[in-house]
Amino acid sequence: MPQSSASAFLRAFPRLITYVPLAALKGQACPTPVTQCLSEPRLWLKHDDLTNSLYGGNKSRKLAFILGRMQRDGKKRLLTFGGTGTNHGLACALHCREQGLACEVLLFDQPPSASAAANFRAMQQSGAQLRETGSLLRTVLTFYSRRLLGALNPSDCTEYLFAGGSSVEGVIAFMDAAFELRDQIQAGLCPEPERIVCAVGSGATLAGLTLGVQLAGLRSQVIGVRVAPSHLGPFAACTTDTVTALMQQTRRRLARWLPKQPLPAVQLLDDYYGEGYGVASDAGCAAAEWFLQLPWADDRQLTVEGTYTAKALAALRDQLSQCSGPVLYWHTLNSSAAAFA
Ligand SMILES: *Cc1c(COP(=O)(O)O)cnc(C)c1O
Repeated sequence: MPQSSASAFLRAFPRLITYVPLAALKGQACPTPVTQCLSEPRLWLKHDDLTNSLYGGNKSRKLAFILGRMQRDGKKRLLTFGGTGTNHGLACALHCREQGLACEVLLFDQPPSASAAANFRAMQQSGAQLRETGSLLRTVLTFYSRRLLGALNPSDCTEYLFAGGSSVEGVIAFMDAAFELRDQIQAGLCPEPERIVCAVGSGATLAGLTLGVQLAGLRSQVIGVRVAPSHLGPFAACTTDTVTALMQQTRRRLARWLPKQPLPAVQLLDDYYGEGYGVASDAGCAAAEWFLQLPWADDRQLTVEGTYTAKALAALRDQLSQCSGPVLYWHTLNSSAAAFA
């Protein structure tokens, strides 16, 4: 498929096509479907579990843009980091292998869980180089020192990608996703949501949807649910400021091509985080149970886990009861079993 028709955003801004290259990821399957809940008709779901048949979730959406830019820039290897069971690291490992790029993932300690263990095993089998680097703070410092060394080496062809794929390209991927949703609304596949709810770790999903919804002319409020620590030592890691900074960086990069608009405010809920990253919360577990018994119009099997989705679902349930219009849950967790075969 030509790049231009694979991206709703690039169709809306065709002059960006050479500037925002898109990799043709094997198995990529965007646009993802939207579906309505039969027992709660105001509730809708955006199936980003189905972004890619090899490995879905929000990371494959980002990687089409991230690897596209890497390939254009002649980069040959990717260095990134995440928790022991990182969805992002696994998505990077699988798509780099398919694209012929080397991949190294630094892993910080994360509380054990079944989904984290399954991801870790799949990463081990992917051919990616894995390095366990201790605490989150130590891992971030290792990442930055490797990046600094790389910057001093003129022949370095490594892309240093922040955890979660939260780079400008990762944000652009979710601006694209907002345009994809706008097209689906215009096609009559779902109503314009009053609110859109998503989990927030590294922030690109929320940043991109917030920018994209504004640019696409949707009136939806995008509401992020923080599931990662707000600070790492003295550094802000997941706050309205870090998400705003991602939006500003992306705006600056695209300034020449996009209309000038005021920077939209970031809405990030802090009340669902619980005890820590990767630590399941009681509210999350209860919400996951509620969610898994909901009947959906498309009757697809859904999966949830405790690190991201369960906490977002706890917020979703509250949002649904706090407004009277349609609420769209952006489902960011892979549902393909292909990577775990
Ligand atoms: C990474 C991830 C998120 C968070 O997305 P960010 O763009 O990093 O904020 C949400 N849900 C799942 C399942 C994820 O793997």
